[in-house]
Amino acid sequence: MKRIHIATPSKRYEVVIGNELLHMMDRMIDRVCPHVTAVLIITDETVASLYLADVQQALHQTYDRVYAHVIPSGEEAKSFEQFYACHTAALTNHLDRDSLIVALGGGVVGDLAGFVAATYMRGIRFVQVPTTLLAHDSAVGGKTAINHPLGKNMIGAFYQPELVFYDISLLSTLPKREMRSGFAEIIKHSLIYDRAFFGWLQANVEKIEDLNGERLQYAIQRGIEIKAAVVSQDEKEHGVRAHLNFGHTLGHALESELGYGVMTHGDAVALGMLFAIFVSERFYNQPLFYSSFRTLFHHYGFPTSLPSHVSPERLLEKMKKDKKAKDQTVRMVLMKEIGTVCVEQISDEQLLQWLYAFAE
Ligand code: NAD
Ligand code: ZN
Repeated sequence: MKRIHIATPSKRYEVVIGNELLHMMDRMIDRVCPHVTAVLIITDETVASLYLADVQQALHQTYDRVYAHVIPSGEEAKSFEQFYACHTAALTNHLDRDSLIVALGGGVVGDLAGFVAATYMRGIRFVQVPTTLLAHDSAVGGKTAINHPLGKNMIGAFYQPELVFYDISLLSTLPKREMRSGFAEIIKHSLIYDRAFFGWLQANVEKIEDLNGERLQYAIQRGIEIKAAVVSQDEKEHGVRAHLNFGHTLGHALESELGYGVMTHGDAVALGMLFAIFVSERFYNQPLFYSSFRTLFHHYGFPTSLPSHVSPERLLEKMKKDKKAKDQTVRMVLMKEIGTVCVEQISDEQLLQWLYAFAE
């Protein structure tokens, strides 16, 4: 078992990572959250069918009042309706200010349940129990949100959990495409921060299936350590936290243009990272071995070219609407070398030209 300490200005908490940990979940939670009056588990249908009974059983070892609220699986659940339904479940089960919410699931459950915890009675404690690889990213850092029909993650709060409890044996049931999606964010963490870790990934993960056992645990651990280092320096994204957005300017534009769920978040981000490397070579006028990245990403099964039916003009429009754009000018995280990135402003004309070149 591995423990990572996270310290942001608003909170200190731990990420616990290991295999077959469920039986000790109640004690671990009790240690950091004393005097809990009731627990509400929020999870989605898929995860509920696989793990809810085990988690309930584990929690019952310590807590008498354990409730569950199950939301539909998928991005659509990050809605105002589901947010409201979670609050209804909390109220009908008489949760009070000393109660606890357990977010059991991937990034969707974590973002929604975290926002419910941030807002129920002006904020009650919550614990993240990630069940996807991508959630190594979403469960750490305290960003919680739901979507508005006019924009993704537009309504939310910065709200940190009391504990992140990561039992990686739960990842054994995760479909390959979801594993690959999470792996994209692990690659991202290496590229923005740690050249040696990128080397380790290349040497140890030849294909997605290699992500198991010790290697999976190390990849998750290092990914979380990097995310933690970045958010500890900049909890509310005034500066370096923006580096986590590497690959996301085009990634988000693609997701929004194609419709959410068509491409996984990680696939869109992987393609976005490739584009960012392509742009970086041109912006800084130095070779970054774009073609070897392309070969590597292709090998892992990520898409390496833009879908032919999306137009560069539309993508540019979406990129300009990004929350991180300033005065409608696109700001992209570019790579100076592996492990070092920087935010740069790029003019529309230039970006469009590079989008066309990238699409060829
Ligand atoms: P997800 O939560 O939708 O999970 C993906 C799919 O896998 C779902 O169908 C889910 O039911 C299923 N699933 C989950 N665990 C499983 C398991 N162990 N076995 C089998 N199936 C399982 O998606 P995700 O990729 O984990 O997260 C994406 C979300 O995370 C997006 O909404 C994104 O905005 C958000 N996100 C948030 C942050 C943040 O900092 N808060 C960062 C990155 C992403
Ligand atoms: Zn992401």
